[in-house]
Amino acid sequence: MSRDVTLSLHDTSTRKKRAFEPIDPANVRLYACGPTVYDFAHIGNGRTAVTFDLLFRVLRYVYGDDHVTYVRNITDIEDKIMDRAKRDGVTIRELTNGTAKVYQNDMAGLGCMPPTHEPRATDYVDGMSKMISRLVDLGHAYEAEGHVLFDVSSDKNYGCLSGRSLDDMIAGARVEVAPYKRNATDFVLWKPSDEDMPGWESPWGKGRPGWHIECSVMGEHLLGETFDIHGGGIDLAFPHHENEVAQSSCAHGGATLANYWMHGGFLQVGGEKMSKSLGNFMTVHDLLGEWPGEALRLQMFMTHYRQPLNWTGDSVSEAKRILDRWYESTAEVGDVTADDVPESVTSALLDDLNMPQVLAALHKLCGESQKGSAEAARALKASGQLVGLFGQTAEEWAAWRPAMSNVDDAQVENLIAARKQARDEKDFAEADRIRDELNRLGIEIKDGPDGTTWTFTSMWGQ
Ligand code: AMP
Ligand code: ZN
Repeated sequence: MSRDVTLSLHDTSTRKKRAFEPIDPANVRLYACGPTVYDFAHIGNGRTAVTFDLLFRVLRYVYGDDHVTYVRNITDIEDKIMDRAKRDGVTIRELTNGTAKVYQNDMAGLGCMPPTHEPRATDYVDGMSKMISRLVDLGHAYEAEGHVLFDVSSDKNYGCLSGRSLDDMIAGARVEVAPYKRNATDFVLWKPSDEDMPGWESPWGKGRPGWHIECSVMGEHLLGETFDIHGGGIDLAFPHHENEVAQSSCAHGGATLANYWMHGGFLQVGGEKMSKSLGNFMTVHDLLGEWPGEALRLQMFMTHYRQPLNWTGDSVSEAKRILDRWYESTAEVGDVTADDVPESVTSALLDDLNMPQVLAALHKLCGESQKGSAEAARALKASGQLVGLFGQTAEEWAAWRPAMSNVDDAQVENLIAARKQARDEKDFAEADRIRDELNRLGIEIKDGPDGTTWTFTSMWGQ
């Protein structure tokens, strides 16, 4: 049933690329930490979702579509969510129903398949309070001033994922440590809620769960005590994932939480992490109004998932142009399957999702297809589909227009006709001026034997 190939994945906990061996090839289990839905997702969040969607697709390719379970959770209780709901005069459920839906649509726009399960933290509070009680009973957690804290000193393995020593972590802990903490590095499992705040009854009074316990409980419920791969953006390796490991393995008699840990690099702007707090972010929602989702997705694939990706409009433009070519070269290809994907592509993909190398193979196939190889065109389409591209027909692709553009097709056609007339009259200065004007509208033209064709490549200048 599964293909006889070796998938190598870089594992954060051993800092090595390791051959992937699933616990059960009939049910390969993957958990990736999803968003906190208080607002629109930015394209950095999108990058991490695309990385794990790619992994999901590769696992399905190797083990079969029905043999991979992918969980991407939704954190729908958090202080920022409570603040936003209060500001807008709605319940947290009302707010997060809306933001979670937008998130799902945005990720679909980036070509991400729906995960197998998309649990919401607030549906698992009961399980969280049970796991916390177990940790208290086992002496790994303690109650203090309405809070329940994990006692880091009770876990000799604490720090095993990130490889940090306790001394480093103490030095890194915030200068101002809450007075009720026994150790500076102890973290919150449960916190009290005031009367007017959302909260749940618990053995420690009305309160709400901390962030880390959410993933431990949703993972346990949907994937079991030990599963194959756990991932997220690199910012989550410490403390979020370290804390998940501590909670889960202490609650499960020392069982390993996940056999492989994968972390994606940051999407950056001018060398800095894109984040809401820095204010240097672009939402996926807005970008999908300016670009086809596949161009955003391909732009991400140009950088290896573990490397930082520098976000620029130019690179999305380039991705759009590449896709224009690829769609054109594969326009005549009928249905293809994963069996049409050539070894040059699968070997790169199976080598820790080496997408830059996959893209080099695809460029080569495009070149061969332009020279007339129908087999190369087939291989290109099948490979693109395997990584979540070519989701539409060549006609649909050519008909794409940015939702946010105010340029209409007739205006473009008129300018192209005026340019042709200028050229016919040998007024090349005027012809060039019109070409520049089109470029300013984000339109690139190509003169061919059958006349001039055009495509949108960017939105600037409008
Ligand atoms: P958050 O909503 O901040 O909890 O983040 C949701 C997911 O997006 C997590 O897996 C984060 O690691 C990831 N993430 C946040 N910012 C970035 C970024 N600039 N680049 C890549 N991933 C990010
Ligand atoms: Zn998590």
